[in-house]
Amino acid sequence: MYQHLMNLPIHQLEADKRRVEREIQALERQLQAEVDPNIDEGDPGLSSQALIIALLNNARQKAAAIERALGQAQSGSYGVCEDCGQPIDPERLKIFPQATLCVPCKGKRETLERQRRWAAA
Ligand SMILES: [Zn+2]
Repeated sequence: MYQHLMNLPIHQLEADKRRVEREIQALERQLQAEVDPNIDEGDPGLSSQALIIALLNNARQKAAAIERALGQAQSGSYGVCEDCGQPIDPERLKIFPQATLCVPCKGKRETLERQRRWAAA
């Protein structure tokens, strides 16, 4: 039922997914080139390796979010918040087509996440 409204973001999601997948492949190749068993601690090579790993984690998280949003698109619930079931602001979807939470619920989850991290520390 949201299809007419969401055609554009879904299109964008598929394009984003392909782009992120290429990014992940490129980073994985870069990482393989960086991994050198002869690197000692304190070697400047280590920091670029850490950077690639951080970028790779980011890209993988984004790919997972896009995957979830595409799954929602297939079940016809794209654009609906996973937590409260309210429609997500179309303006938000334009900027983050992979969003599966509305802004208030995303904020709540981030607060919970921070609290969990503090509790674990
Ligand atoms: Zn919500």
